[in-house]
Amino acid sequence: MIRKNRGILTVVSGFSGSGKGTIMKELMKKYADSYALSISATTRNPRPGETDGVEYFFRTKEQFEQMIKDDALIEYAQFVGNYYGTPKAYVEEQLEAGKDVILEIEIQGALKVKEKFPDTLLLFVTPPSAKELKNRLIGRGTETMDVIESRLARAVEEAEGIESYDYLVVNDVLEDCVEEVHQIIQNEHYRVNRN
Ligand code: 5GP
Repeated sequence: MIRKNRGILTVVSGFSGSGKGTIMKELMKKYADSYALSISATTRNPRPGETDGVEYFFRTKEQFEQMIKDDALIEYAQFVGNYYGTPKAYVEEQLEAGKDVILEIEIQGALKVKEKFPDTLLLFVTPPSAKELKNRLIGRGTETMDVIESRLARAVEEAEGIESYDYLVVNDVLEDCVEEVHQIIQNEHYRVNRN
């Protein structure tokens, strides 16, 4: 396989409820040796079943603002009232070691990463329909109706940014979607015009 020593940086974005979290979990399970998944820091509260250092580094607003001051984040953004950001050290270490790194972040952050690292592959995941999106958000049962409404409103805003992405993947059948994401990233190793 033709590849440079440095790993490929991929950003995966998608509406809340698109199932991108599940896709990432499956991808990591199936191809654990190929990818490093960055763990973000956030000021939002953990959902039931979430553990500090696994899904996120759960931080206070003060702690998060200190990370910004210390220039410890590649990017950060506010999403429905909370901060979310990508810790720098892990991503740089893994890329240097030749691992393909995946960031699962929203669109503002994705565009900042692309600006800093123009070779970043931007991938957007959608559910098969708007109705399915709402059903998934409600079915998850982890947020209040107010938060669900805010997240749906945010999805409408984000839809306008999809054209900045390199690939769009529809999450209809989970296993197919995981395979598509894997193939898209792997194909990047054959690109000749990387910076
Ligand atoms: P959730 O609260 O559903 O876990 O995440 C809300 C949104 O924040 C999702 O779109 C998720 O991709 C995004 N997000 C998670 N981590 C980061 C991050 O480090 N930076 C940015 N910009 N967005 C993030």
